[in-house]
Amino acid sequence: MTTFAIGVDLGGTNLRIAAVDSNGRVLEKITTGTQVVLGRDYVIVAMSNAIEALVTKFRGGAGHLSGIGIGVPGIIEMQSGTVRQSPNLPGWEDYPVRAEIERRLGTSVILENDANAAALGEKWLGAASTVDDMCMITLGTGVGGGVVLQGRIWHGMTGMAGELGHINVNPEGPPCGCGSRGCLEQYASATAIKRMAVEAVANGQAPELGRAMGAEPEFSSKVVYQMAVQGDESARAIFRRAGSALGIALASLVNIFNLPMYVIGGGVSSAWEAFSPSIFTELHERSFVYRATAPSQSTPGVQGTSIHDDALPSRRTTIITRALLGSDAGLIGSARLPMIASDVKLPEQELKGA
Ligand SMILES: [Zn+2]
Repeated sequence: MTTFAIGVDLGGTNLRIAAVDSNGRVLEKITTGTQVVLGRDYVIVAMSNAIEALVTKFRGGAGHLSGIGIGVPGIIEMQSGTVRQSPNLPGWEDYPVRAEIERRLGTSVILENDANAAALGEKWLGAASTVDDMCMITLGTGVGGGVVLQGRIWHGMTGMAGELGHINVNPEGPPCGCGSRGCLEQYASATAIKRMAVEAVANGQAPELGRAMGAEPEFSSKVVYQMAVQGDESARAIFRRAGSALGIALASLVNIFNLPMYVIGGGVSSAWEAFSPSIFTELHERSFVYRATAPSQSTPGVQGTSIHDDALPSRRTTIITRALLGSDAGLIGSARLPMIASDVKLPEQELKGA
């Protein structure tokens, strides 16, 4: 008998759902055309219907449903199952999201911040599968974060811990959606990469980027990356700035947590070669804990390869590395949530109509 769970990743633009078995095998993955812009009620109905369809399908083969985990962007209050603030989900604030989905499905669900879910996914099956403690920074439209300690997401008091994208890296920096200024998100998100390109063009510092912007109606951080790969100096400088901001934030994280691994994921992380050298430069300059634990083969720009330094087998090292699961991290982590939620051991309930 297969034990499986349903993971849901409610992104800013679409909705993805997967059935994942207890060994981490993805049984089926659906990307619905659900337009998040169509609003809360529409999305909740579409999500519930899609979950119900997948559960029915895999229960058919005598599968056992261990539960349903849903990753949502925004800060979540775990106790009440509400989204307290979400720039990507206007109209969802202070609505009983979890209760409404549970009412429709007739079974309990676990609501989780999407970046926390992504961290758990990388911990389970990705880059951090060999360690118990890790944190992940997700570079997407915004910058999300998650801290996993002893294999479990660190929630803090209400569920809002791990907002690593709002670590301050420049007190006088650009205003951020959270109300502060100069947060990591204002330098290392896809939105920030694009903004810095627009600023460089406006300042007359980036003629090639300006030409690309004029020629490409869909100008985005990807175009900036392509130009950096082609050697455009202003595009390269933008990624160095993103990497420096990440390095400054990571220096604090390393000093605070002394974890064995820090994972960088999300769409922007595909530009790893362009920004990661600056991360290591900042880490070496700003974190004495990093200097004391850096892999010996790690010169600035070269990531460590193992938790235990090969040259000194007993020496534990700090690894900063790329995520491995790509855009599936949040989906897989969401499915993992009910599998490790041993404190809420509920008898399997029947889905309405299933
Ligand atoms: Zn912020």
